[in-house]
Amino acid sequence: MRTFDYIIVGQGLAGTLLGYFLEKSGKRILFVDNGYKTAASTVAAGIFNPITGRRFVKSWMIDTLFPFAKETYAEIEREINQQIFYPNHIIRALFNHVEENHWLMRSDLPENLPYVEPKEDYGRYKGRIQEPYSYMELRNAGRADILGLIQAFRKKWLSLGRLVEEQLNYELLDIRKEGVFYKDLMAPTMIFCEGYMARENPHFSYLNYNPTKGELLLVKIPNVDFRKMLKHKLYIVPFGDDIYWVGATNDWNNIDDIPTAENRKYLEDRLQSFLKVPFEVLEHKAAVRPTVKDRRPYLGLHPKYPQLAIFNGLGTKGASLGPYWAQHFSDFLCGHSEIDSQVDIQRIKSK
Ligand SMILES: Cc1cc2nc3c(=O)[nH]c(=O)nc-3n(C[C@H](O)[C@H](O)[C@H](O)COP(=O)(O)OP(=O)(O)OC[C@H]3O[C@@H](n4cnc5c(N)ncnc54)[C@H](O)[C@@H]3O)c2cc1C
Repeated sequence: MRTFDYIIVGQGLAGTLLGYFLEKSGKRILFVDNGYKTAASTVAAGIFNPITGRRFVKSWMIDTLFPFAKETYAEIEREINQQIFYPNHIIRALFNHVEENHWLMRSDLPENLPYVEPKEDYGRYKGRIQEPYSYMELRNAGRADILGLIQAFRKKWLSLGRLVEEQLNYELLDIRKEGVFYKDLMAPTMIFCEGYMARENPHFSYLNYNPTKGELLLVKIPNVDFRKMLKHKLYIVPFGDDIYWVGATNDWNNIDDIPTAENRKYLEDRLQSFLKVPFEVLEHKAAVRPTVKDRRPYLGLHPKYPQLAIFNGLGTKGASLGPYWAQHFSDFLCGHSEIDSQVDIQRIKSK
């Protein structure tokens, strides 16, 4: 029997960040992951967007979440010797005077000022995109290389014998007073970080999931050197070497990881409708975002079996939510603090 302090199921962004903080607290972790079979983390653009939606609402808790995330990624960058966080601006197209008026009202609010670039500038998009009615520019934004982050840790944990590549079979879990036994592995607590597949976990299927499938393209746009992120009819996010992330779709009905011909055409047509320079599609991908009904992360212990824990519900904003809530949950698990009631799964009653 191999014994650990925690077994973490799922090594996407949630599992990786939680494992990182628990290890920092001196805990021995073992990961079980099926090789990113259903990982949203492998396709995400990793955008940090401070002001979102039609009404230009400041994202929940960003004044706390953004600095913490940036600090965490900087710390991880030093450890793995690889850039994870790319500070950047977002140019957002405004399509009519109603949108522009909304924006003008919101952009003057003192709470938004740190994120509003007063001298907006299309930069290298000028003349290369169909100019919309108007536009705005956000600063103090950026993107995290989520795939690079999880792959770097996977390599490390595999080499240390801390990651088992397999599909966890829930039927083989033996939950006893002293902990959770799974094949030849044992830990006092097993933490589930399976992304949207948590719906299939018999112990946590009662939570209110609302998964959203997303499809995207990786395209090559030669010699334009777009630097900023652009939110026009689609997002264009520079990934370096003339490669751009373009997306994404939102589908609440077809919950699987299969890219469809229909959505590829939709994405290509939409990109063509505003991008005036040629592009070549390199890849077309799909995955499911672990979105939940009340849009707040899921942290906590199972109401009947406290040997089982969950860290999930990072939804569409894992890059900015992940670091803060992973540290928060790690602190709770190590006995240093309580779980914030806004994210505690106790807010959802088990049937
Ligand atoms: C198209 C798209 C665009 C996105 N863009 C952004 C963005 O710009 N900014 C942002 O912040 N977020 C974005 N997201 C959201 C982001 O991807 C998620 O918030 C985050 O990656 C979720 O991480 P996770 O670890 O909870 O889940 P996942 O990444 O899904 O990881 C779960 C892991 O568990 C494994 N697993 C599941 N069940 C089992 C099992 N039984 N046994 C073993 N392993 C198992 C899975 O294969 C996977 O490796 C986007 C998502 C999508 C789909």
